[in-house]
Amino acid sequence: MLDKTMIETAERIEFDGAALKDAPAIKMSRRGLITGLACGTVIPIMSACTTNPETGANQFLLVGDDQIATMALSAWTDLKKQTPQVSDERLRRRVLGVWNKIAIGANRAGQDWDVAVFDTDDVNAFVMPGNKVGVYRGITELTENDDQLSSVLGHEIGHVAGRHAAERFSLQVASQVGLAAGSIAIAQSETGRRYGNEIAALGGAALQFGVLLPYSRQHELQADRLGVDYMHRAGYDVRQSPRLWGLMAEKSGGRRVPEFLSTHPDPGRRRQELINYINARGYAFI
Ligand SMILES: [Zn+2]
Repeated sequence: MLDKTMIETAERIEFDGAALKDAPAIKMSRRGLITGLACGTVIPIMSACTTNPETGANQFLLVGDDQIATMALSAWTDLKKQTPQVSDERLRRRVLGVWNKIAIGANRAGQDWDVAVFDTDDVNAFVMPGNKVGVYRGITELTENDDQLSSVLGHEIGHVAGRHAAERFSLQVASQVGLAAGSIAIAQSETGRRYGNEIAALGGAALQFGVLLPYSRQHELQADRLGVDYMHRAGYDVRQSPRLWGLMAEKSGGRRVPEFLSTHPDPGRRRQELINYINARGYAFI
């Protein structure tokens, strides 16, 4: 099990010369360390690890998607109550049409999805556990074509395929709750019922840091790559994906920074990573 000593050891280890506890921007290193500890690449201590069949990644998961989905549901319901959805039927059909196509590309068309198109200028989109997808009118207006829109939506499905919400929640619990994470892991292996109670006891905190925080850089890059895979399979022009990030970067130089950038940082680097990936996969040559 992951005991307090190990968490404290993790706190002391430095990365890029900065103490972990003082540097939220380098949470990735803590994530890597904890995953390494828990998944046995550092010390085999805990059996909360699983291989993601879609990405091949070894993931540290204290919860499944279902448990996270229950926590996210009230946030989603509130959001839908508070935010108007577009009345422009053409726009709604455009988003849903692209959504259906990219979902087929992702082999997830058979799942239940709740896709809402919110009528605000926000240049943003998100996915919440439980297959809840929010797309804001602002980001649809930034896109020059359906290929670019499919890039945004494919990216969001990529977060689902990568099980990023459950992984982020698990790592936050392990790093911030420490001992409790150990007991949750034991509960998981011994009785699923008690495990559920432990998670429920975390309540609002879970919602705050487990569901609504931005994803890590690694999650974002993986979602980008998966999104491009889905675009390719769905017949969209993958070259429009880096083009969209170029547009984001241009817009961020203007007066108003797109919200998508605050939750999805580094447009320039991500544009280049996408170009490298697309070339390496042979989808196109840019
Ligand atoms: Zn993202």
